[in-house]
Amino acid sequence: MHEMSLALEILENVQEQISAEVSGKVRVREIHLRIGRFSGVSVDALQFAFEMAKTGTPLESTHLHIHETPLVIFCTKCERETELDSPEFVCPECGSTDTEVVSGQEMIMESLIIEEH
Ligand SMILES: [Zn+2]
Repeated sequence: MHEMSLALEILENVQEQISAEVSGKVRVREIHLRIGRFSGVSVDALQFAFEMAKTGTPLESTHLHIHETPLVIFCTKCERETELDSPEFVCPECGSTDTEVVSGQEMIMESLIIEEH
């Protein structure tokens, strides 16, 4: 399962960041992720995988918040940004395929909410 390896990667990543700073002295309360609607990751599956993966780790009480972003493309021809419902990457205004993805395919760890003991 793709989402399970992703969940483990997130846990590992966060624990590395924390231990590098102040090991054992803080608790990670929340992890905020930004995931594009067309990043290929299922938000529900990732949430579920995270709940399973965190059990028995120092991040057992950490909540994962996932913010899903819409697919937005920028057309370099007519210089418009458009939100798309499907990953077709064609400008609906002028039909150009000369577009750049603004959001919708990313997976970014936005922030960690940390509490001191
Ligand atoms: Zn266009």
